[in-house]
Amino acid sequence: MTAMVQKPTEIMDVLRKLQALDDEIRDIRDGRNALVANMERLHTVLSHLDRELAEKRGKLAEAESWNRKKSSELDEERDKLSKAKGKLTGVTRSKEYVAVNKELENVRKTISQREDEVQSLVKAIGEFREAIAREDQKVQDLRSQAQAEEHANKERLAGMEKKIADVDSRRQVITAKLDRSIVSRYAKIAQARDGIAVVPVVDNGCKGCHIQLQPRFIESIMRGSSIVTCPSCSRYLYAETSHDASGAVVTA
Ligand SMILES: [Zn+2]
Repeated sequence: MTAMVQKPTEIMDVLRKLQALDDEIRDIRDGRNALVANMERLHTVLSHLDRELAEKRGKLAEAESWNRKKSSELDEERDKLSKAKGKLTGVTRSKEYVAVNKELENVRKTISQREDEVQSLVKAIGEFREAIAREDQKVQDLRSQAQAEEHANKERLAGMEKKIADVDSRRQVITAKLDRSIVSRYAKIAQARDGIAVVPVVDNGCKGCHIQLQPRFIESIMRGSSIVTCPSCSRYLYAETSHDASGAVVTA
């Protein structure tokens, strides 16, 4: 059983250590959350690209079926042409000859138009298919990059979880030294104040909320005879001491 600390200065020391551990845990968690959010973003981008690709493939299939229809129409016209040619050889009267020739001319015109249509359609389809293939390659590259990242992140995440667990067990050792009411008060303040429950006095003010403190608070903190909390933000206050050029202790 760990001995409880009783003196205000000792309690403040433990609270400062507790705050430092909680800062550490928060930093690791922030890093972990950023990592997870980054991977989620990448997955969202990938599924968006997948949807876009599927849509484009659908359009390509439509264009291809349209092309098949146009090509078979062209075949029909070519069929007509050869039939008309056959008719022409059997024609003897000049009036009929003119009429068949006219028909032949019309069919040739139609064929030429259809050929142009099919040709530009085939060209467009080819270009579209190439564009899709390029995009598909890009998506595949991005996906394998994401998989590699995910693999690497798995280890990093596991490391982070382990670190959090380590810090947490150190935290438990420390909180065991404090009275439960202090621990729960610390937790309440931390929850209400962005995880910062213990702050130093800087330039006679609270570093948490920047309020100027009355001299009696400062004196009380310096004396260390009682635990002092900020009258404005309720955070635990401590005096940060440093040394001047001569080595003497100076307070901030
Ligand atoms: Zn304050």
